Amino acid sequence: MARTALQRRRIIIPVRAWPTHSATTISSPRAQSRTSSSPLRTYSSSSRAPPPPPPSLLRLVHHQRVPPQKIIPRIQTRNYEFRPSQYDPDGSRLRDAKPLLTKSNLGRVARSPNTHIITLLAIAGAFIFYFSNLETVPVSGRTRFNVYSQDSVRKMSDMQYKMLLYEFERNNIRILGDSDPRTQRVRRVMKKLIPFSGMGKDENWEIYVVDDPHTANAFVLPGGKVFVFSGILPLARNDSALAAVLGHEIAHNVAGHVGERMSGSIGTNILLYSGMLVAAGIGLGPLLMHYLGSKVLTVVLENPMSRKQESEADYIGLMIMAEACYDPREAVRFWERMEQGARHGGEEVPEWASTHPSNENRIKKIQEWLPKAMEKRDMSDCRTTTAFADLFRRALETGVLIVEE
Ligand SMILES: [Zn+2]
Repeated sequence: MARTALQRRRIIIPVRAWPTHSATTISSPRAQSRTSSSPLRTYSSSSRAPPPPPPSLLRLVHHQRVPPQKIIPRIQTRNYEFRPSQYDPDGSRLRDAKPLLTKSNLGRVARSPNTHIITLLAIAGAFIFYFSNLETVPVSGRTRFNVYSQDSVRKMSDMQYKMLLYEFERNNIRILGDSDPRTQRVRRVMKKLIPFSGMGKDENWEIYVVDDPHTANAFVLPGGKVFVFSGILPLARNDSALAAVLGHEIAHNVAGHVGERMSGSIGTNILLYSGMLVAAGIGLGPLLMHYLGSKVLTVVLENPMSRKQESEADYIGLMIMAEACYDPREAVRFWERMEQGARHGGEEVPEWASTHPSNENRIKKIQEWLPKAMEKRDMSDCRTTTAFADLFRRALETGVLIVEE
């Protein structure tokens, strides 16, 4: 009995109940509250390193040797949540907050010498940007502001012409096939014009004749993408008239009118160029190129060119067609037909004329340039190609009956 009682007593009084330095011995209410209030201070019993006791308890257990490295607290992380309601429960702080920019603040900024220096530098920069991008147009001798090189406009429009083709496909607008006589006619004229187009040898010429008899339109995108809507073909009654249309459109490219139109707003362009630098830095270059490319299309399709630009295109186009041995007098007749159509109104008004406002002054100018154009035609190397024998030979080569009217 005595043994069992002793055994029982031994069992009843476990050794670990005796106060030691372990965490279980922290029984003072202060210590308990500290451990319970901060869950970060609880240590798992499985941890090999004994937890460092709080400084106040160190004094009590000073007889225990605690290695100094074990006192170093572990690095704990904690997620702090931003809860505005906690700091501003009734919203009064937000309501009474002072604005960052007040009238007096703005006044101080405006009067600051630094602001004056920055403004002066910005204005000087804008002037330098403007004057360093001025150029003289060879034909008319006028000075213009153009920030886009022919090359950059071409790169921008390269993407756009694919979009245009996609749009045609989506709207079930057919591109005429190679064997269609209308496509062959446009190709034939373009083939003669290209060597005299002055558009450089690295242009990747592609010719699309769009099957749309109700649309009388034609344009040449920078990079040599030619679009002719079949509706303009009956209006351009002969190849020389078609050469007048295409020569005029090529001339807009030669003279860099698209880039000039895009450069129209100096403020926007300074912003665009800053944006370009930022976009290139953060890898958004293609997106910006896409945006600028859409501007190319807008300029070519929607915005009528200025009278000066039209006049330049008329002159260059006339010389191109004359050098390619087309009859420049047909340009006058074509514009007279357009003028008549525009005057009488109705369905006869061609779309091309709406973006190319025709006027009597234009016809008068072309008539003035005719002697020079005729001279160019006579002096051109292609003169012999208009000989019937040559036409016949080429017809044999291409298998197409060439009818020069
Ligand atoms: Zn034009």
